[in-house]
Amino acid sequence: MEKEQILGFDVITYNMQQLLEEIFKDYRNNKQLFIVNINPEIVLSNYRNKALKEILNKQKYQIPDGSGIVWASKKQKGNIKERITGIDLMLKICEKSQEYSSNIFLYGGKEGIAKKAKKELEKQYPKIKIVGTNNGYDDEKEVIQRLKNTQVDILFVALGSPKQENFIIKYKEELEDIKILMPVGGSFDVISKTKKRAPNWIIKHNLEWLYRLLQEPKRIFRQIKLIKFMFLILLKKDEQ
Ligand code: UDP
Repeated sequence: MEKEQILGFDVITYNMQQLLEEIFKDYRNNKQLFIVNINPEIVLSNYRNKALKEILNKQKYQIPDGSGIVWASKKQKGNIKERITGIDLMLKICEKSQEYSSNIFLYGGKEGIAKKAKKELEKQYPKIKIVGTNNGYDDEKEVIQRLKNTQVDILFVALGSPKQENFIIKYKEELEDIKILMPVGGSFDVISKTKKRAPNWIIKHNLEWLYRLLQEPKRIFRQIKLIKFMFLILLKKDEQ
């Protein structure tokens, strides 16, 4: 399997179509997958965190979730050509899940958001089976109990980073019957139409970060990190 390292974090180099085929091959073989999103923020917040890096690198799929990762790969003369965002992959998995009648659970977001996202997904994918939702502010032990009492094949976790990654790492063995566990950040806010995603031409031109910044100016503090990430990549390149 083709992978590339971005400041020590493994990232897959193939495209969405290949990735989806691989994911569902594993699904048919009953393998449990924790699908990891690698974006500049995660890299920057954790590039000295060896333990986390090791856990994330051990997983089978780490998606290039953000144009910063594609840019870094280009600077390293790497092979990551296409950004695969968490929300796009989530929607593709939802679409494909209809062929398998998979049981899906949506966990995270403010009260009511996951329920609204469920309704929107059911409109978009008539055969989808969403068997439960839970907001992201309940006691996690209670949520675990609910998940164990419900037959779930695919779990999307929208608690923001690093909470969602930590949740999956902590409980994935306990939730051994769930085949796909995936952190999806603010995706339920977008799917439920609570927050707007950027128009297509902005996404295509890799300017989604700017659109989100204008919608939520306090994101500037997070985005300053992006500049630091760029420096690290450029400095590393000079060292080689
Ligand atoms: N959230 C949650 N529980 C928490 C903290 C956050 O459910 O304890 C949700 C929050 O409501 C939002 C999402 O996590 O829907 C995080 O969104 P953000 O835009 O920060 O995610 P990003 O995709 O930027 O990581």
